[in-house]
Amino acid sequence: MVSRVIPVEPFDLVVFGGTGDLAQRKILPALFRRFCGGQWPEDVLVLGAARKKLDDDGYRALVAGWLKEHAPDRSADCAALDRFLSRVGYVPVEAQGDEGWPELAARLSRDRVRAFYFSVGPRLFGALAERIEAHGMASDKTRIVVEKPFGHDLESARALNATLAGHFRERQIYRIDHYLGKETVQNLMAVRFGNMLFEPLWNSQYVDHIQITVAETVGVDGRESYYDRAGAMRDMVQNHLMQLLCLIAMEPPAKFDPDAVRDEKLKVIRALDPVLPHHIVRGQYVGVDGQPGYREVVGNPRSSTESYIALRAHISNWRWAGTPFYLRTGKRLVARSSVINVMFKDAPHSIFGADAGRHANVLSIRLQPNEGITLKVTIKEPGQGGMRLVDVPLDMSFAEALGPENQVSPDAYERLIMDVVRGNQTLFMRGDEVEAAWAWTDPIIAGWESSGDVPKPYDCGSTGPGDAELLMKRDGRNWQGIKP
Ligand code: NAD
Repeated sequence: MVSRVIPVEPFDLVVFGGTGDLAQRKILPALFRRFCGGQWPEDVLVLGAARKKLDDDGYRALVAGWLKEHAPDRSADCAALDRFLSRVGYVPVEAQGDEGWPELAARLSRDRVRAFYFSVGPRLFGALAERIEAHGMASDKTRIVVEKPFGHDLESARALNATLAGHFRERQIYRIDHYLGKETVQNLMAVRFGNMLFEPLWNSQYVDHIQITVAETVGVDGRESYYDRAGAMRDMVQNHLMQLLCLIAMEPPAKFDPDAVRDEKLKVIRALDPVLPHHIVRGQYVGVDGQPGYREVVGNPRSSTESYIALRAHISNWRWAGTPFYLRTGKRLVARSSVINVMFKDAPHSIFGADAGRHANVLSIRLQPNEGITLKVTIKEPGQGGMRLVDVPLDMSFAEALGPENQVSPDAYERLIMDVVRGNQTLFMRGDEVEAAWAWTDPIIAGWESSGDVPKPYDCGSTGPGDAELLMKRDGRNWQGIKP
């Protein structure tokens, strides 16, 4: 299969926080991979901008080291690495002061696309936006990319939206949720809206329930103080799981266009019912076998922050009335696995009798690892007398089906950064979406705070607190296993 490369016009990209963890591990490797993939025009400038005092050569040496570590496949090609580095530079900048801004402005070209990636803590977003404009860098072709977290609650998200709107128009603001850049997430839309097969069944008449699981094996190490203030609800549910829920549940947009898609997502969030307290389970991991538990890691022996959430959500609209959506996410779980399971209802009547076994269809959309889509269908168990039924997966493993050149899915950041440069906001969150998501999560968090709720302990390496299993069992259902 020959992939079609959409041309990109020359651009300047400034990475504020260009020496930080995200820049090292994700942003620069993503840029380099797209450069190696021939997706850049010749004339591109990438400028790191951060506090550290460095010159261009000093920064290039750092970038070369990061690429060797985080893009080892590509950086083995020394010629490509050198050509990439020749387009990279650095300006020391103080986000909240005057230092470096005139130099930065002088390095940028006139009249071309300019993207400013805010890979710094959110408290600096306003200062950056203000200075970009004050130093004459906010042209019509300027775009800003804003990392998560986008606010801490509705009030702070509104304030941040208002601050950014004071300097840029909405069409210039790209709020990143890297889950939307994942190939399978986009494939979810392709499967839903590119086929006749699924959409007629995609409603409460045929779907029993939907499970969205984002399980992580990592803990909170390295992000302790942020995480202890945020917790799983703010860190994962309000953004990533909410976005997945929207894409699964939304009505077909009239076209694959930024506002058409985001209008439909927003309608889903606004149709979410408030979550009842007995439909939520919060958990916090405890150490086993000498491993530290959550409270030891964050250094807060009384912390009541959740590192795990399971909840049952309802969307009050015509399509989904009566179909629960079960969401769960947690840290230090048994396996790393992000998957959406669409659990169809049983066939209304089994013609094969009670002994044949009855099996419902499950459509599993795996985000990571092993991106792909599997449809579990029921067939006859081969070779057996009589009619016994057995489940088999119809596996749509993209890499295998599409050939060796598609064995590796591009990293989400690759896709998203190129969308910024191309001016395509479809896979970015709009300001009103983010606010609506906070409006749904804020009362849940406020309820825990006012009741002094304490999360349930669960062991590192487990599937989460037992109460999360009960949440399902009470409804006569079970979670699908968390498999690596
Ligand atoms: P980091 O602490 O590793 O890096 C911060 C960067 O900001 C550094 O380059 C530092 O020099 C620069 N900086 C800090 N204060 C500055 C100032 N006053 N003026 C100029 N530069 C300044 O942080 P990070 O982990 O790279 O995260 C950056 C952003 O991305 C944060 O908003 C974070 O929440 C978000 N994020 C990070 C990750 C991740 O995996 N690291 C994932 C998702 C979102």
